[in-house]
Amino acid sequence: MKERVLSGMQASGMIHLGNLVGALSNWVKLQDEYDCYYFVADWHALTTGYADPSLIKEYTKDILINFLAAGLDPEKCTIFLQSRVLEHAELHLLLSMITPLGWLERVPTYKEKQEELRDKDLSTYGFLGYPLLQTADIIIYRAKYVPVGIDQVPHLEISREIARRFNYIYKEIFPEPEALLTEFPKVVGVDGRKMSKSYGNAIFLSDNQEEVERKIMTMVTDPARVKRADPGNPERSPVYQLHKIFSSKKELDEVAVGCATAGIGCIDCKKILLKNIFKILEPIWKKRNELINKPEILYDIVKKGSERAKITAEETMQLVREAMGLF
Ligand code: SF4
Repeated sequence: MKERVLSGMQASGMIHLGNLVGALSNWVKLQDEYDCYYFVADWHALTTGYADPSLIKEYTKDILINFLAAGLDPEKCTIFLQSRVLEHAELHLLLSMITPLGWLERVPTYKEKQEELRDKDLSTYGFLGYPLLQTADIIIYRAKYVPVGIDQVPHLEISREIARRFNYIYKEIFPEPEALLTEFPKVVGVDGRKMSKSYGNAIFLSDNQEEVERKIMTMVTDPARVKRADPGNPERSPVYQLHKIFSSKKELDEVAVGCATAGIGCIDCKKILLKNIFKILEPIWKKRNELINKPEILYDIVKKGSERAKITAEETMQLVREAMGLF
């Protein structure tokens, strides 16, 4: 029996290169080794975006298409939609009975995110209860592992605490989910900050060739390189940071030396990067086009995946209902 892994992506934006390199590519590798459950968290998108849900469907579709285009195989893993497995909501409700409010209020991201999204009214239960829904998402499949980067390990702690509390009060049903640590390279956006849909600096998998080219060719570089003959410091250039992820060792060395000696111009340097990014994106674009033209394939995969997820979730819920004394 393979050990189970669970992970999801929130339907609050289009998928970009940072998501691909930081999560999706890793998920693709894990599907051969583990019993993987991957889902689109569309309810989660409502926790901060409830006031304007107009794009949730589009984001959901984009994420599902990219799951498949990046290489997730529905024969090897279970791909599903959170809102199609109502048992997540039932478990969320039942866990809310035993979760002390203070635990939710103390989650570090609660205050941080409220500050960050100050233009939104996030004084809702849905937002406070986000970690509880996330816990339900994970433990309903009795997943052993959640793939995360080292900085996200504390986020998993509340899920472990809630699982422990349930097991202590009622019955040992839930394994405490563990972090499956992965080294994610940090992907910078075209402005040099972390690539993020909210910073407007992302290269999306749905961008076409011209859009990607425009974004790369207008990327910020080392400000020291005002003229072609000015030497630069590649470490100060976001372009070089992307080379580290997408280019070969040989190209990386050539760019580093060329930049420091003004042997290479920024345009040529960006062209090398562009060629390597295209190499990654071209097969993804091809699969995306197939799926966009045949949406019935996508709907069928999600329907079957959600039904499969529901069977596992329902098995857990029968144990939970019994343990909690429900009829
Ligand atoms: S040569 Fe390349 S690494 Fe150096 S500043 Fe220009 S774009 Fe950046």
